[in-house]
Amino acid sequence: MAAVNETARRSMVAGNWKMHHDHLQAIRTVQEIGLRLPAEVLPRVEVVVHPPFTDLRSVQTVLEDRAISLVLGAQHCAGEDSGPFTGEVAAPMLARLGVRYVLVGHSERRHLFGQDDEQVAAALRAVLRHDMVPVLCVGETGQERAADETEAVLERQIRTATAGVRADQAASLVLAYEPVWAIGTGVTATPADAQQGCSHARRMLAASVDDTAARAARVLYGGSVVAENTAELMAGADVDGVLVGGASLQADSFCAIVAAAGSVRSG
Ligand code: PEP
Repeated sequence: MAAVNETARRSMVAGNWKMHHDHLQAIRTVQEIGLRLPAEVLPRVEVVVHPPFTDLRSVQTVLEDRAISLVLGAQHCAGEDSGPFTGEVAAPMLARLGVRYVLVGHSERRHLFGQDDEQVAAALRAVLRHDMVPVLCVGETGQERAADETEAVLERQIRTATAGVRADQAASLVLAYEPVWAIGTGVTATPADAQQGCSHARRMLAASVDDTAARAARVLYGGSVVAENTAELMAGADVDGVLVGGASLQADSFCAIVAAAGSVRSG
């Protein structure tokens, strides 16, 4: 595929709060983030938070009332729009709450809750149906990496999830390369590994949907990102940002990551 013009893509920092922060803690956290966000980098860096479902309405209200430049994300959704699916949350419900980005196929959903590739594909289509943007999470386990299966795993995950996706939809898609062995472990991929994984994910999107769309789509790296490693991870030409778990829970560590992301590709 042709050389990628990385400067055309706006960087992105997304915080996945997982099952942390009740709605009162969430309100405090976004207020603190609002006070500390480095305003000068925001034209270059889009900043997203993915709180638990029960926090979404409160966070949406605070962001609107205080004009905080954070974009609202969710962590998961069902593939169906309604029905007898106890405990699930449907994409149209998220859209009504002002959610813009939805994580799809996070490794904790895949490995702890048995979400398979077909269910990931259904969730991705549901997000698109309701005019939100899927953040499609892909990545290999440590065992798969040891068996040299990383590329095959990414290919299978991306091909299945994007079957039937149009080129215009793929262009706004966000892919997150998150090696499972790096999530929540304190073991970060090397910048070279992050670039290789993100580049492979982009090539797979090109092969599955469309080359031009794949060059426009943003690809994030995720796995034990902290402020100290953000700039070096984002130095890779195909790494457009970071998906952050643990270090996104506190305003100071999260905003330090945003500042570090803003220092990359600033010219
Ligand atoms: C994640 O939850 O997607 C993640 C990358 O977590 P952590 O930053 O804690 O490794």
